[in-house]
Amino acid sequence: MDEKKAVIILFGGSGDLAKRKLYPALFQLFNRGELQDHFAVIGTARRPWSDDYYQEIVTAAVTNLPQATPKKVAAFASHFYYQSHDVTDAEHYVTLKTLAQKLDDKYGVGGNRLYYMAMAPNFFGTIASHLKSEKLLTDDGFNRLVIEKPFGHDYESAKTLNDSISATFNEDQIYRIDHYLGKEMIQALLALRFGNQFFEPVWSNKYIDNIQVTLAEVVGVEERAGYYETAGALRDMVQNHIMQLLAYLTMKKPTAFTADAVHAAKDEVFNALHPYTVAEASANFIRAQYTEATIDGKTVPGYRQEDGVAPDSMTETFVAGKLQLDMPEWRGVPIYVRTGKRLTQKSTQVTITFKPTAPNIFAANGENKPNQLTIYVEPKEGYSLQINGKNMGQEFELENETLSFTHDDKSVNKAPEAYERLLLDALSGNQTNFTHWTELAQTWQFVDVIRKAWDQMPNMPTYAAGTMGPVAAAALLEADGHHWVFQPTKIELAD
Ligand code: NAD
Repeated sequence: MDEKKAVIILFGGSGDLAKRKLYPALFQLFNRGELQDHFAVIGTARRPWSDDYYQEIVTAAVTNLPQATPKKVAAFASHFYYQSHDVTDAEHYVTLKTLAQKLDDKYGVGGNRLYYMAMAPNFFGTIASHLKSEKLLTDDGFNRLVIEKPFGHDYESAKTLNDSISATFNEDQIYRIDHYLGKEMIQALLALRFGNQFFEPVWSNKYIDNIQVTLAEVVGVEERAGYYETAGALRDMVQNHIMQLLAYLTMKKPTAFTADAVHAAKDEVFNALHPYTVAEASANFIRAQYTEATIDGKTVPGYRQEDGVAPDSMTETFVAGKLQLDMPEWRGVPIYVRTGKRLTQKSTQVTITFKPTAPNIFAANGENKPNQLTIYVEPKEGYSLQINGKNMGQEFELENETLSFTHDDKSVNKAPEAYERLLLDALSGNQTNFTHWTELAQTWQFVDVIRKAWDQMPNMPTYAAGTMGPVAAAALLEADGHHWVFQPTKIELAD
């Protein structure tokens, strides 16, 4: 294994993301030997912390991880340095540059720099421009920027942000995180599609009837109201995670398993997204907000009653929609997507329903159900395939059977976390699992029309917490003669 060498400069070193995700991910890379002696992390934030105090924070964030022996944790934490840094103050970048150079020499990293923006997005442009004006980028080694979502809140703001970071970094230096792309089962989707001879030939409108994607959460908005009120389910989940999943589900086989080829295949899908007019968007995408309900004997508040949410909030906590692709392979195949908070069961899953066999020679022998392939992304991780077999016995009766495979808990626990994988990818210079600007531009433009349609509607539909969303979500599919395959509960009957 090639040890990765870099000075990692983390903007937002005292933040929630850093503590919950990034320090544990870096520790796992250290534990695996991907990071060894030749790395240092400079955490920056506004607070006046010392290196010692920062190392205590880092230690606390990793100490309960498996394999975190005190010795290993101490060795890991010794690579962390802190700088009190106001991102709007040019002077602070001069100090940062000196510290980075000092650590570069001390740890022998050869000028490699990874800049990680784990801060509120309104600072991203400011940081990037200061990195340039204060000449932090090195001439030897690599300079890579890792940038968190949300990447803008519509096409215009995303473009402004992209222009500002592009003034400092080239596209091949920018690693835009969509942590879904680091998930095991999202990656497994590519293995399933392109690693098996028997799926690819049937993967088109000739054999596939419809595709359904569900990203269901049980939790409400929790402590994130400040952010969520400005985002809503459409921006928070559809523009990024759902769109990326859609691309992986429908893209053609890339010419190679490389970043360029995968991005080109995804771009083709996003280019083919059937554009909706505002009127079509309101017919094909519905939204709703959860209301108070009693779940397992406990009353949970409605969205508008949550801390930090406006009593007349028009932010949606649920989206269901139908997408279509203007590609010869996919014309006529509806792709139904939905996501929401306070739904019945936490689950991310995809179901591909195939067309019935034709002609059906078994019409007199029981129900010939369509084949269905389900990919369980989380929390369960695996696949199932519904096929028709024969009921054992004298009579010739069809019987619907399920072939299934689920990863056991041990393998799931051993698999790298999304952030671990993505940080290693960024350190290795592999952009395959990151989003390209063109993908963002296309998906924002698609989503902006839906937002525009909703902004013209005065009413916010609702659903009771603990259900799978409003009745309109079911009606959307019923209009096409379909239904949601994943139905952990009866859908609320009153809107
Ligand atoms: P946070 O509010 O917990 O942390 C923000 C950090 O920025 C802190 O370290 C703070 O000191 C620093 N900061 C704020 N203003 C500053 C200034 N003027 N100068 C220097 N430092 C300043 O935020 P977070 O939850 O860690 O999120 C960070 C980013 O990651 C956001 O873009 C967020 O949308 C994204 N994100 C977070 C999560 C998560 O699980 N927390 C998940 C996905 C994406």
